[in-house]
Amino acid sequence: MAGVSRLQYTNEIRLIRVMCSGRVDLEFVLRAFLNGMDGVFIGGCRLNECNYITHGNYHALNMVLLCRKIMEHIGLNPERLRIEFMSSGEGILFAEVINDFVKKVKNIGPFGISEEIDKEELKSKLIEITKLVPYIKMVKNEKLGTRLENPEEYDQLFTSEEIDSLFREVVSYYIDPTKCQACMICAKRCPVEAIISAKKQIHVIDQEKCIKCGTCFEACPPKFGAVTKISGEPVPPPIPEEKRTIVRKSKEK
Ligand code: SF4
Ligand code: SF4
Repeated sequence: MAGVSRLQYTNEIRLIRVMCSGRVDLEFVLRAFLNGMDGVFIGGCRLNECNYITHGNYHALNMVLLCRKIMEHIGLNPERLRIEFMSSGEGILFAEVINDFVKKVKNIGPFGISEEIDKEELKSKLIEITKLVPYIKMVKNEKLGTRLENPEEYDQLFTSEEIDSLFREVVSYYIDPTKCQACMICAKRCPVEAIISAKKQIHVIDQEKCIKCGTCFEACPPKFGAVTKISGEPVPPPIPEEKRTIVRKSKEK
């Protein structure tokens, strides 16, 4: 509407149209910062006026509230991320809000500078968190689906302490080489092919690929119980490749 009405607003933003603000994933926001953006603005339809039964704008709001706490956690100014709700007919409001946001981000300064954090350090923190997005969304799934009716509740949805413990107690999965029987069940169920699997070979989780969904933990037959859940401590190194072959007792004789 702002464009159709020929309203002036800053050209220092790049617009990306999506079908619904709920389509804007936490990962997209983190990637925007990783790609050098100084601020991210999300414009959604007014709450309770969503065209879809999913009410995606509530999801977008909760994602922003979560992301702002994550930004705080890594030392990035949360004011660099804003969400506002308006109807498609409110071109004047859109132009005002965008101009105000860009002005505020400019006052904050370039990414990482005003935070006094080395840009590369900040980027590596963002990369680590981006890898954890599927895990974060799984752990916070219930809260992300909440419908907050009152802006006073916004700051309480995710607390700083909660986000600190989320990252402190992040879960990893590890296959105990002394228990794995190479039945291959876990590898077939892993949604991201993160399990290095071969016949008669002890299976190993590629921690770089693992999205921490816990499927292998659930899938490993209880009689083997080879998948271990680890929280708050480092994952043991993988068993070397040359030691992965399983020699059955009957064949040893
Ligand atoms: S936790 Fe999920 S992603 Fe990771 S190895 Fe197990 S099944 Fe694959
Ligand atoms: S399901 Fe368990 S026993 Fe089977 S390959 Fe995976 S970790 Fe090993």
